[in-house]
Amino acid sequence: MTDALASSSDERKLEESNNRILQFVEDVTTNVVQIQERVLNDILSSNAGVEYLLRQGLNGRTDRETFKKLIPVVTYEDVKPDIDRVVNGEPASIICSKPISEFSTSSGTSRGENKLIPMSEEELERKLLFFSLLMPVMNQFVPDFHKGKTMHFLFVREEAKTPGGLLARPLLTSIQKRSYFKEKTYNNPYTDYSSPKETILCTDSFQSMYSQMLCGLWYGDQVLRVGAIFASAFVRAIHFLEKHWRLLCHDIRTGTLNPRITDPSVREAVARIVKPNPELAEFIEKECSQESWKGIIPRIWRNTKYIDVVVTGAMAQYIPTLNYFGNDLPLVSTSYASSECCIAVNLNPLSKPSEVAYTIIPTMAYFEFLPVSREIGVPEPNPVEVVDLVDVKLGQEYEVVVTSYAGLYRYRVGDILRVAGFKNNTPQFNFVCRKNVALSIDSDKTDEVELHNAVMNASNILLPFGASIIEYTSHPNTSTIPGHYVLYWEISQSSENAIPPHVFEDCCLAVEESLNSVYRECRVSDKSIGALEIRIVENGTFDKMMDYAIANGGSSINQYKTPRCVTHAPMVEHLDSRVISNYFSPKPPEWAPGHKHWSTN
Ligand code: AMP
Repeated sequence: MTDALASSSDERKLEESNNRILQFVEDVTTNVVQIQERVLNDILSSNAGVEYLLRQGLNGRTDRETFKKLIPVVTYEDVKPDIDRVVNGEPASIICSKPISEFSTSSGTSRGENKLIPMSEEELERKLLFFSLLMPVMNQFVPDFHKGKTMHFLFVREEAKTPGGLLARPLLTSIQKRSYFKEKTYNNPYTDYSSPKETILCTDSFQSMYSQMLCGLWYGDQVLRVGAIFASAFVRAIHFLEKHWRLLCHDIRTGTLNPRITDPSVREAVARIVKPNPELAEFIEKECSQESWKGIIPRIWRNTKYIDVVVTGAMAQYIPTLNYFGNDLPLVSTSYASSECCIAVNLNPLSKPSEVAYTIIPTMAYFEFLPVSREIGVPEPNPVEVVDLVDVKLGQEYEVVVTSYAGLYRYRVGDILRVAGFKNNTPQFNFVCRKNVALSIDSDKTDEVELHNAVMNASNILLPFGASIIEYTSHPNTSTIPGHYVLYWEISQSSENAIPPHVFEDCCLAVEESLNSVYRECRVSDKSIGALEIRIVENGTFDKMMDYAIANGGSSINQYKTPRCVTHAPMVEHLDSRVISNYFSPKPPEWAPGHKHWSTN
């Protein structure tokens, strides 16, 4: 067969495969009622013998009414004892009929440690199917991505072994390490990554980022789309380029690799790609040495059509930075997924970030929705009010509740969604926020209670100086790259007993040491969060903040509570204009892979 014939038959096959996938989306979103019923039936019948369901008295029944009557709506804390038993080596059949192949370490935490989400081989396959829906959808809007490269910054994280001998690692690390990724994905025309797999699988964040950036630069005009999973990682990649472009250009000019890259497999993989190219090095140097970095992404990767990053939820804080570097290239949030369950796809990927609506894929799990109100003073939702996927109301906000194929039953994921419309008969949702999260820079999620406990721990350091914290609040500062947590403290202190700066630095570190393991992993391993900062503000600052809030928000003094996190720009300006001094953590906090009480492999 000639090349031309081979490629036209490849094109036809690709078109057929895309059409099949789009038809699948049409079908499942049309027949959502029947599909959800079938999913629940499949889950309950195949798990009829699991201890958790027997304990609730389900006794093999699979009908929806009995399920809803007997099985409680739960949080991770409720099911943690059962999950922990499997983690510690008891049989998977406590929660799931299928063998648990590993645990996904969610970025959500419980008691300071990653939540451990049970995973089966079958569930991993389901998740891979979910991700295979994304490019055929995109292809309808901007075609021909299979004709070029994707510069997608992907990173794996350290793994640990549970006491029961199973791997515990993030879902994406697992997907990236699977043989599927190593073999099949590289033959998928849409995942022709500029990063060779060795650079992605390298756990040293500097070496991985450097070598991925080098190859991405090398492929230049062949790159048709750029991105990362979350906006924070891509912003960090561009910042990395800002810092290291001279070294990277040197490597491109000479066809060599910086000696800081010591991993032999990475060196070998990069050497296969990067050859001396002085002309390209000069072009990149010219762009990077310009004073303004506005539009640097399309200036360097001239054929890129969009930036593939999640910019909804907490990631929306990176939109202005990405618009600056991307010169308003479309920012595309393709999907909404979690370790617990792949949930929804953005079927209109070029929509504005503020209008992104994700369509639930009803074959992924059985979905229910708990109505919520974020207004102050409204009580917690009553689990009896949980409604099915097809019964949600346009405009109403809900917390998503999933029953998965891998051992979670009526489990509250912790995300708040708002019904934005329908695709065929299936609801579409805006991602509103993660419940209770006060601060987030990357995959970290710090709630008010964790923040409060951390601040209280640190405040003990001030006691010997006769000082204490009168009020505090916080702000996720993303004007630095990487972003960092800023705490504003108003303190009372005696005038005789001056507090030396190192004491406040110790306070910064004490706060960091008290935060959850995902925060500390981001600080230590990923380096995706910068050193925590404490800004001491003038006395009276928080009173003035209350006056401002009451004058502008209609709250009364009785009702007013100091917000533990501020993002409203005038409030942040108010605080910043009253800063007397500021301090940073002198070093990263302690962190090691695995739960505190496990050994790591
Ligand atoms: P993990 O459990 O570490 O896989 O993190 C999953 C969580 O990340 C979800 O529960 C959401 O809170 C958040 N997330 C995932 N996808 C999106 C998205 N498209 N928009 C906003 N937040 C997201």
